[in-house]
Amino acid sequence: MQPRDLSDHVAYEAGRGIEEVARELGRDPSEFVKLASNENPHGPSPAAVVAIRDTASNASSYPKAAHADLTAALADRWDVASEQVWLANGGDGAIDYLHRATLEPGDDVLVPSPGFAYYGMSARFHHGGVREYALSKADDFEQPAETVLESYDGERVVWITSPHNPSGSTMPLAELDRLAEGTDEETLVVVDEAYGEFADRESAVALIEGRAGFDARDDVAVLRTFSKAYGLAGVRLGYAVVPDGWADAYARVNTPFAASELACRAGLAALEDDEHVERTVETTLESRATMRDEIDAHVWPSEGNFVLVDVGDATAVAEEMQDRGVIVRDCTSFGLPGCVRITCGTDEETERAVETLNAVLGDGIGDSGGRTEVTDA
Ligand SMILES: *Cc1c(COP(=O)(O)O)cnc(C)c1O
Repeated sequence: MQPRDLSDHVAYEAGRGIEEVARELGRDPSEFVKLASNENPHGPSPAAVVAIRDTASNASSYPKAAHADLTAALADRWDVASEQVWLANGGDGAIDYLHRATLEPGDDVLVPSPGFAYYGMSARFHHGGVREYALSKADDFEQPAETVLESYDGERVVWITSPHNPSGSTMPLAELDRLAEGTDEETLVVVDEAYGEFADRESAVALIEGRAGFDARDDVAVLRTFSKAYGLAGVRLGYAVVPDGWADAYARVNTPFAASELACRAGLAALEDDEHVERTVETTLESRATMRDEIDAHVWPSEGNFVLVDVGDATAVAEEMQDRGVIVRDCTSFGLPGCVRITCGTDEETERAVETLNAVLGDGIGDSGGRTEVTDA
């Protein structure tokens, strides 16, 4: 027998890891830096490392108290009811839960293009259809409500990524409010704030709760993760904040014990460690500014922990950079064959990325891709 017809489904293409690349090229892993997956260059919060170690001997028990404790801590952090916090196995797990809670077979979701591949993958697993709205390179990937509404046709869920991966653009709260207002009552607008900590913007939780001058809405949800600013990508921990009327749905859609004991304890410790998040954000802002100032190609302004660079032929440039020891993300799979995405690293990593990219561009690699020349004014 065979699995069901999966011909509409595509496999997720993750950023490439150091071990994988080093093995393939027959080189030593220590020769490489990886700036391809928007991971935290400082690693996890040291407090989270201690918590994981301390929790190891509890690994035989189901995570009941830890789950409740973390949910309560997050509810406190956002000033919402515990029932509004849906813990999940990574932000990706929360994407699944929101689809399980909304999609009937045949319902559609509306997703950004270019954009994060998992929205569409997850919708298809849940027997939903996928339609796209375009964020255009020519408009610097700007996200006014109108751009989404022009493509909107009654989809059940509309996905907004703010800050947007891979461009780093954001949608202001007033535009999000206008978008939610402009869609049907039965359409959920999900604001994916995986990179929220790096943006100088208030969270869209304000729209759910009716803060910052907005009326409370029951058709907006927010997605957050511990994978980026908190440096816990490896433990898989994320969550959604949902409208209060959705309280009962979680128990009906979640995979039992979705977030592990180790993940919950690590998350609780990381939440308390403001210093680590602040240091991470500070490093990111410096790296972002350096890359924008020093890269000899167009770099879009970004509110995430990465920048998008117009390099011409992204595959050629990413491959050559990798040969020279710097792994970046070729954005061809996002639908941007002219761009690479570079994660903000430590000062040292950032310098190495800038020097390597400039040298590669200086050697004429990528030229066939029709990059716009930047001239020093
Ligand atoms: C990284 C990321 C997520 C969530 O990733 P997890 O590791 O599953 O938490 C969600 N959305 C976007 C746009 C991301 O880049």
